[in-house]
Amino acid sequence: MTHMDSFLGVKISRNAHTSTHRFTEYFQGFEQVEIVRRLFDVQTEEVLSNLRIEFSGRRGYMGVSNNDGHLIISAQYLNHGDILDIYLDVIHELVHVKQFMEGKELFDQHYSYVERPTEVEAYRYAVEEARNLGLSDDRILEYLKTEWMSDEDLLCLAQALNIKIDVSAR
Ligand SMILES: [Zn+2]
Repeated sequence: MTHMDSFLGVKISRNAHTSTHRFTEYFQGFEQVEIVRRLFDVQTEEVLSNLRIEFSGRRGYMGVSNNDGHLIISAQYLNHGDILDIYLDVIHELVHVKQFMEGKELFDQHYSYVERPTEVEAYRYAVEEARNLGLSDDRILEYLKTEWMSDEDLLCLAQALNIKIDVSAR
């Protein structure tokens, strides 16, 4: 017991680890997706097999750790989110994995979220894949829309990604 422990009269085991899982345990076949191969080229299998994921109990979607480049996924989102959204998010996050490998600053606060070059690049890949899948601009816009993004931000992002917005329908 440390001094502090005995002072408080309790014992706290301070050896918590973040438990992570293999990406490939939960996501299979992404190494065959053309756009993923374009990202990692001959390293595709190696990158995906080394990628770890951490499940978060918090609400949200997915993100990449700025510390070691692992994927953080809301368990609730993975289990209950729209499958197409999840697929496109994985593509988006794999772009961040590559950016992390290249030493890029993922959360550059000099930019707002929708203008940050790392975000725009990640969205570009996701939108390209969405178009490959035949998704309409309306559906892509729906994918981009999140509850924490203002209409103005959404418009800004959509413009950066060349997504047509049918103003009359909104
Ligand atoms: Zn992102």
